[in-house]
Amino acid sequence: REGEVAEAAPKPPAPARVKLTHPDRIYWPEAGITKEGLADYYSQVWRKMAPFVVNRPLALLRCPEGIGGQRFFQKHIWKGASRHIRQVEDPKGKDALICIDSLDGMIGLVQSAALEIHPWGSTLEDWERPDMITMDLDPDDGVDWARVIAAAEEVRARLEAAGLAAFVKTSGGKGLHVVAPLVPEAAWPAVKAFAKGMAQSMAADSPGDYVASLAKAKRKGKILIDYLRNQRGATAVAAYSTRARPGAAVSAPLAWEELGPEVGPTRFTLANLPARLAAMEQDPWEGFRKAARPLRG
Ligand code: ATP
Ligand code: MN
Ligand code: MN
Repeated sequence: REGEVAEAAPKPPAPARVKLTHPDRIYWPEAGITKEGLADYYSQVWRKMAPFVVNRPLALLRCPEGIGGQRFFQKHIWKGASRHIRQVEDPKGKDALICIDSLDGMIGLVQSAALEIHPWGSTLEDWERPDMITMDLDPDDGVDWARVIAAAEEVRARLEAAGLAAFVKTSGGKGLHVVAPLVPEAAWPAVKAFAKGMAQSMAADSPGDYVASLAKAKRKGKILIDYLRNQRGATAVAAYSTRARPGAAVSAPLAWEELGPEVGPTRFTLANLPARLAAMEQDPWEGFRKAARPLRG
């Protein structure tokens, strides 16, 4: 299958050279998506996805038998991993972490049945100073989608008031993620304190709508403003990553104007996202990195 990976891409990147074993292995049974289908998807979105997954520690949700089988959330490199998957020593940790630096690495992850890719919010260049904040909006069951959108807009307003830019993506699961690119200056503790402060003041201002604590009992009918993606070693699903859930939704970058009843958290999938990207005049997250600002204490 060498050389075929990028065939449907609008601007094909260099074809991945990693050979897949068992390309017909089914990863999403209902959707009929195979290992090769997943490799094709990542080849097509690679140009846009790369900044969010390259040269960052990664946690993986691996599902060797597809989404219906056993799954494990893996933060450390394993014996026998593809040589295209790099291992990297955490300067403050014990066991080696997982990292990729190319599409080959990404295809290596596909070969290893990594059906979700969850990066850190900092890069190997500056482990201690994150280059993004992710505010994860987790609605309780039954919360209207309009309220989730309102929460995202409120997070956006608060980020902008702090001098930061805000971008939004679907989670591919139940909610939205609002992401602010940072010039890596502030260290993890300050970034966590900022995110926690935002979540707590949202909950204090609108106690009927928002909650900042993970306690299940307090979340009834509300949206959890999950700020805990913003601490050292924490992860959030990457933009463009697939989810190991039925339907093969992906975490899809959106333009703010797109938020509405038609665009729910699973609206974009492995099957429809490449065509969406090809048809769009402008990438909604164009300029993400350029919009980075330092967090000022
Ligand atoms: P949803 O919209 O359904 O909330 P999500 O990606 O925001 O989707 P989860 O999949 O529930 O939420 O995961 C929450 C975060 O916790 C993820 O961003 C992920 O990086 C991390 N995570 C997920 N599974 C594990 C796990 N088993 N152990 C540790 N961290 C995990
Ligand atoms: Mn979430
Ligand atoms: Mn969460």
